Amino acid sequence: MMGNCALHVLIITNMNVKTTCPKCGYEIDSHSPLTDPTVKPEPGNANICSNCYSLNKYNSKLELVQLTQEDLDSIPPELMLEIEMIIDKLKRNKNDN
Ligand SMILES: [Zn+2]
Repeated sequence: MMGNCALHVLIITNMNVKTTCPKCGYEIDSHSPLTDPTVKPEPGNANICSNCYSLNKYNSKLELVQLTQEDLDSIPPELMLEIEMIIDKLKRNKNDN
């Protein structure tokens, strides 16, 4: 289960957690929460890799791991839509650079 559906996108804000994307190996030491800038990643939070745009989640040690099918199934359709829009936006931002 995702537990808490707060979503973090890894771009700007510094934090004290260093981990790598389980898909592409991109080293992550920063994140930018979607809604509240003071929100810190917590175990079970979802995360979009800013390099390969894969959707991952934090485990209990705040390392990123791939989502299980059960995790994917537990994401509400509205949130999934929002995630897809964010990924789209991230891709467009990257292309602008
Ligand atoms: Zn990645």
